[in-house]
Amino acid sequence: MTEPSAVACAADLPQTATHGQGRGCVITRRACFSASHRYWLPELSADDNAARFGPCALAPGHGHNYELIVSMAGGLDADGMVLNLSEVKHAIRTEVTGQLDFRFLNEAWPEFDVSTPAGCLPTTEALVRSIWQRLTPHLPITALRLYEQPGLWADYLGHPMDAFLTIRTHFAAAHRLARPELSQEENERIYGKCARPHGHGHNYLVDVTVRGTIDPRSGMVCDLSALQRLVDDLVVEPFDHTFLNKDVAFFAECVPTAENIALHIADRLSAPIQAIGAHLHKVRLQESPNNAAEVYAEVPQLDMQPAALEAVMAS
Ligand SMILES: [Zn+2]
Ligand SMILES: [Zn+2]
Repeated sequence: MTEPSAVACAADLPQTATHGQGRGCVITRRACFSASHRYWLPELSADDNAARFGPCALAPGHGHNYELIVSMAGGLDADGMVLNLSEVKHAIRTEVTGQLDFRFLNEAWPEFDVSTPAGCLPTTEALVRSIWQRLTPHLPITALRLYEQPGLWADYLGHPMDAFLTIRTHFAAAHRLARPELSQEENERIYGKCARPHGHGHNYLVDVTVRGTIDPRSGMVCDLSALQRLVDDLVVEPFDHTFLNKDVAFFAECVPTAENIALHIADRLSAPIQAIGAHLHKVRLQESPNNAAEVYAEVPQLDMQPAALEAVMAS
């Protein structure tokens, strides 16, 4: 299989090259499976398991409809393909979905057997890492995304222990885009209809992505319920059903564009997320189906931006 680094540049190719042969491309393939799991560590008491994992500790477990996105890169062959799709489907089915579909994850793969000291809970981030390890011998993977549900997914880019976890939430709020020192005419020239005097509203979608080390035992990059609480307490509760310009002190001075709201959310969340052991990686604020703003809150490390998956996510 051609390594991405060995892919020829378009300029190097002879004019006779057909079907894009040798040129680089990233392709994605989606696969679904349904599986159950339970968060329960034998070294903890029943009370400690319940306190740590909440309803996820309940016996005999609960299930999800998982959605896996496999991103692969390489040079096109003489047939105009990076890989033959039926071979891709076969590898994903044989190595992953055929082994996990309708199974209890804690028992499906030995790495999730927590009765052994090396076992790890089958969280979304631990599961996507295991899927990477099982697929890389067969496919030239560049990134994996695993949705546990539409509002929770993990990205894995091959770093041994680091993963990205994203939670999606929403709030409804009104705003008006206008700078107080300018006239109404000047504001309408800059901000258009968004400068109308009495404001307008949006149902905002907020995706908060954290990066962290997967704990070898709990399988988590951070305490998910603690992360959800932070987003609820610091973003949803203060912003939901407000007129941002009037009800959120910060936006009395700062024009609440999607960009400024995303930056402000990142500023509010960065230190508290650090305190629960992860790093805020990205905030994506979607204002409408037609516009969104993304803020990268940390310097990307090891080229680990899950950028190859964004197009899939937007669809
Ligand atoms: Zn679950
Ligand atoms: Zn607006």
